Amino acid sequence: MNIIFGEEIENFKNVENTDLKLENCKKITDFLSQKNIVIYGGGAAGSTLTLALKEHGITPEFIVDRKFDVIKEVHNCKVFPPEKLKELDAQNSVVIIAINAYVIRNFNNETYQNIEKFLPDANVIEIGADVTNMLNYTKCEKKLRNGEPFNIVNCLNCGAETKCCGIYERYLKKIAKLPQERNITLSKKFDWFGYIMGQYCTLNCKHCCEHVPYMKNKTFAKKEQIIADCTKIAQASEFIRYIELIGGEPFLHPELAEVVKGLLEIENVGYVKIFTNGTVVPKEDMRELLKNPRVVLTFSNYMGQVDGKLADNITQLREMLKADNIDYVFSESKMWTDWGDFHDRGRSDEETERNAANCFCYNCHRAFNGILYRCPHQYAGIIQGFMEYKEGEYIDLEKTPPEKMGEALEAFENLKYTEGCKRCDMPYDCPEVPAAIQL
Ligand code: SF4
Ligand code: SF4
Ligand code: SF4
Repeated sequence: MNIIFGEEIENFKNVENTDLKLENCKKITDFLSQKNIVIYGGGAAGSTLTLALKEHGITPEFIVDRKFDVIKEVHNCKVFPPEKLKELDAQNSVVIIAINAYVIRNFNNETYQNIEKFLPDANVIEIGADVTNMLNYTKCEKKLRNGEPFNIVNCLNCGAETKCCGIYERYLKKIAKLPQERNITLSKKFDWFGYIMGQYCTLNCKHCCEHVPYMKNKTFAKKEQIIADCTKIAQASEFIRYIELIGGEPFLHPELAEVVKGLLEIENVGYVKIFTNGTVVPKEDMRELLKNPRVVLTFSNYMGQVDGKLADNITQLREMLKADNIDYVFSESKMWTDWGDFHDRGRSDEETERNAANCFCYNCHRAFNGILYRCPHQYAGIIQGFMEYKEGEYIDLEKTPPEKMGEALEAFENLKYTEGCKRCDMPYDCPEVPAAIQL
């Protein structure tokens, strides 16, 4: 088996210069277009790779997968058992492995063994996901240069936020209203946050990370307050990629449409993301706003946990979005983690710092009623009175003067941990639990 393009793909990932990236990608695609391409793996990775290759004019000969009898076809490419590799001319073919490392480990390197067995002299590209990323990058860079519009939902499905895709960021700066030069210190690191619209929800999830079902004295944040808080943060940051609206359930907020309109007017913000559980059908004004390409809907599917009217609403909302041709991110997460209650776990400072550094929620900042919190757990603990506001562990958005806000945000980003991290089971001690169990 000859492993090919390992070095070139690494170079593509590491090089900063966009022209060099494009050149690198062209070299690889030119080569691939001369060969018979076979994808090993007909799951999600194989499917996105097939699509990316086709968009570059390269149609795979076929796909091989151990579940060939179930998958049968991927984007019009037939799926066969691995034995089919025998029929290829090794010299003129390239096998691209599009299986995640976890599956490879779990099946004892069956993939490599099959290639050795059925096409021992095969040219093999080992990480199909890298090829997909490279092809998508090239396509999007060209689109950006040609001034074509992007669909932000596609970017989110492509992992834009986690991989910090530079093209997506440049696109956001193109569609945002950019401010005049500002003569204050700006935060470079602070680039997104969530705003809590209120503590009302149609569901009562036992492990809700914002503790919505347990909140007393529920309230909605006021439109003016939300817009003022978000404006202040955006003015003090180099760029805010997005503001996400969360709750509770944002579609219950009586002024949601007005809030979204206000946020879209704020300079320096890429887009507004709305997190919904889908059980509330939005009003007409909101329905119109969802067609705005700078408004993105993230829809968590809790269909298995609800019935009756709420289940009907989920169906109705999906039909409405389909009728309006509105794309959305559909989250099917089946498992959550239980972060536990707010008692002090008695960890050392070093342990707490290590936990916070490895917690995927450490940068899930939450703003609510004039205060910026570091994460949902800290917010929920303070609001419910289990913890106090500690100097330096939150930002008072009203009291901090605009010219000091950039420094405050930067210091907030550099914070090692908060009191919340001492009173939390994330990330190592939190058991997995089924998503959205209802109280
Ligand atoms: S994140 Fe968006 S811009 Fe970046 S490669 Fe994916 S689709 Fe293209
Ligand atoms: S739907 Fe979301 S906000 Fe509502 S209770 Fe469940 S997790 Fe919390
Ligand atoms: S309190 Fe700390 S450890 Fe817990 S979720 Fe928040 S950032 Fe993570």
